[in-house]
Amino acid sequence: MASGAAQTLTAERIARALEQGDVVVHYQPCYDLRTGEMVAVEALARLFDRESGELVEPAGFLEPLEESGLVVHLDEMVLTAAAEQVAQWRQLPAGDRLCLAVNLSPADLDDPMLPARFREATEAAGLPLNAVIVELTETVLSRTGQGHEQVLAELAALGCNITLDDFGTGNASFDYLRRFRVDGVKIDRSFVQFLGSGGPHERMAESLVRFCLSLGVHVVAEGIERPQHVAALRRLGCPFGQGFLMSRPLDADALGALLRADRVPASLAHPAERAELPA
Ligand code: C2E
Ligand code: MG
Ligand code: MG
Ligand code: MG
Repeated sequence: MASGAAQTLTAERIARALEQGDVVVHYQPCYDLRTGEMVAVEALARLFDRESGELVEPAGFLEPLEESGLVVHLDEMVLTAAAEQVAQWRQLPAGDRLCLAVNLSPADLDDPMLPARFREATEAAGLPLNAVIVELTETVLSRTGQGHEQVLAELAALGCNITLDDFGTGNASFDYLRRFRVDGVKIDRSFVQFLGSGGPHERMAESLVRFCLSLGVHVVAEGIERPQHVAALRRLGCPFGQGFLMSRPLDADALGALLRADRVPASLAHPAERAELPA
């Protein structure tokens, strides 16, 4: 299957792909930066476009799906497939504590039945709800009304971990932290990229990491691309990280193989060993 990252689909082709169930879930591992253990996988949706035979990434279909409200169906398909998949991976020795992170769009929170759907999908799969991480961007939270807060509270009551995604990029981060109970934050890669850079934005990125740590929630750094990012995050005490340096999002077969191999990624090998590698 060819990958068409740059492709943008028309609303019609997107609707057809959804109807035909041409949703493919890729998984990107999230690691404990201290031990190199894979602690979670983030489900990332792709659409298979039959016309071009290409696998299209969210940039090519998410906006029209959100505008039409059809994103709710996509997210339901992703949750169902990913819950089954992760429940299977948890049978492997290296996957016994693996968590599943899913992304939600604003329209998802419009549905008061969302918590019930989460309960059904995970129960059917045999995945405990406390192994589920719900990722929300500030855009999602900025549109929340009373009903949305109730839905979020119910998801939290079921045991889901509520995580604020792309943290630092919204214009009201502090306000959301005050208004909503969140269990975790994912520091956006636009900050992570400055870590260890020695440039003018490095201090700001470091301060953001320290601030997040001070909240006492799960902190994940996303978009780790260079060894210097890992070194800086370890020095700051950031426990979790995700990024192309460790692994790109993978199809289910490749992620399964990675789990079965049960190896610490080379990029997270002991700092002393890594120092011997050429820069
Ligand atoms: P996100 O939740 O912030 O996911 C991280 C995105 O950054 C993914 O892009 C991932 O492939 C990419 N990424 C991960 N590590 C690196 C890195 O080291 N460098 C760089 N440059 N990029 C990295 P992707 O898969 O294209 O997804 C984009 C966005 O689409 C996601 O951002 C999320 O907001 C949304 N999305 C993805 N899947 C779903 C879904 O099933 N439902 C909903 N509602 N939204 C989704
Ligand atoms: Mg996410
Ligand atoms: Mg993000
Ligand atoms: Mg994003």
